[in-house]
Amino acid sequence: QAAAKAAAVNANSGAPTIFDKIINKEIPSSIVYEDEKVLAFRDISPQAPVHVLVIPKFRDGLTELGKAEARHGEILGELLHAAKIVAEKEGILDGFRVVINSGPTACQSVYHLHLHVLGGRQMNWPPG
Ligand code: ADP
Repeated sequence: QAAAKAAAVNANSGAPTIFDKIINKEIPSSIVYEDEKVLAFRDISPQAPVHVLVIPKFRDGLTELGKAEARHGEILGELLHAAKIVAEKEGILDGFRVVINSGPTACQSVYHLHLHVLGGRQMNWPPG
């Protein structure tokens, strides 16, 4: 827990992240959906049978949801719509969860805004 938070704190800057390399195809990923503005790929450490990350290709200051401004409204909507497309493609439209961890206290570790799309099993509430 503490280690996860420390990693999150250390990563909290506007520096390039591993997601830039995924966007640039410099490191491999399992892509589920892609369009001009959005990329969706399988999480390397899946927490459910379906665990896909949906990210903006152009971060534009969106290191975390807590940094969102009015100009980000359009891309934020597109990311949510992409999450629905992913759920449809993965066959989990009957029930899925979308999570955004924003900031160190939420254990965000990669500072490039991303939506987690989770499903394929019974999801429990409240989350940890
Ligand atoms: P946390 O690490 O606490 O889940 P985040 O919400 O920032 O915090 O999630 C980052 C996610 O990115 C993690 O679920 C992690 O497994 C995933 N991840 C990290 N590196 C890769 C990678 N190279 N390919 C796919 N997923 C990755």
